[in-house]
Amino acid sequence: MIASDLRSGVERLGDMIAEAKTIVPFTGAGISTECGIPDFRSPGGVWTRYRPIQFDEFVASREARDESWRRRFAMEEVFAAARPGRGHRALASLYRAGKIPALITQNIDNLHQASGFAAEHVIELHGNTTYARCIGCGKAYQLDWVKRRFEEEGAAPNCTVCDEPVKTATISFGQMMPDDEMQRATELSQHCDLFIAIGSSLVVWPAAGFPMMAKNCGARLVIINREPTDQDDIADLVIRHDIGEALGPFVGN
Ligand code: NAD
Repeated sequence: MIASDLRSGVERLGDMIAEAKTIVPFTGAGISTECGIPDFRSPGGVWTRYRPIQFDEFVASREARDESWRRRFAMEEVFAAARPGRGHRALASLYRAGKIPALITQNIDNLHQASGFAAEHVIELHGNTTYARCIGCGKAYQLDWVKRRFEEEGAAPNCTVCDEPVKTATISFGQMMPDDEMQRATELSQHCDLFIAIGSSLVVWPAAGFPMMAKNCGARLVIINREPTDQDDIADLVIRHDIGEALGPFVGN
């Protein structure tokens, strides 16, 4: 059911939150746009400017690795300046209140952790761009280290241990999804009574399978997104408005 206006949507959502015992949020890039981080698919989004670099391309081509790191450094000020928005803060309030055991996110910006979620309660399906990892042995690196080496050598650095390429700790297209995170997200989706998809176009799979999975396992499904999604038809409530406006009333509750 699509809420006729923002106010009735917020009221209905408030009732559903009050009635729920276990809420699982599932967030996408839309929750972070008010924090200054562009999403992928809105006009002006990242993909209207850049073609994504596939994982096999990153592995095979030094030029692709250099280009990938140049793009990441170009975004550094944006990521470094971003602070949690109203959506993040509302979810953190419900987490503190014991309603949310953990959340599932496609985001890579670390803003849920910054809003007060313990790292182990943020299931990052697509990793985290605020640090880097070796794609061979998994050794973690600070971005500052990568940047320094890039500037000194004029090219993206390899791992100091195994000499494999170092990449942001994100999951690229064509890269394997992380097993543990997929397993935990599956369990959360199957064992909640309210699942709220927030700011996702729900077109990136397998992540987009979780709202449907929760609904099929008996949870109520809410979708908050300013554009329609393919799963609006199966949702119990669709709030097609700005996320900050829709979730702002729940900050501090
Ligand atoms: P997406 O760009 O496909 O969809 C975002 C959706 O949010 C769009 O439908 C848009 O209409 C909506 N939206 C944007 N701002 C909104 C607002 N203020 N209020 C309401 N709706 C709003 O993003 P997605 O579904 O998360 O795509 C998945 C991929 O994007 C993931 O792989 C993720 O890793 C990556 N991504 C992450 C970030 C981030 O970490 N902040 C940023 C860009 C992309």
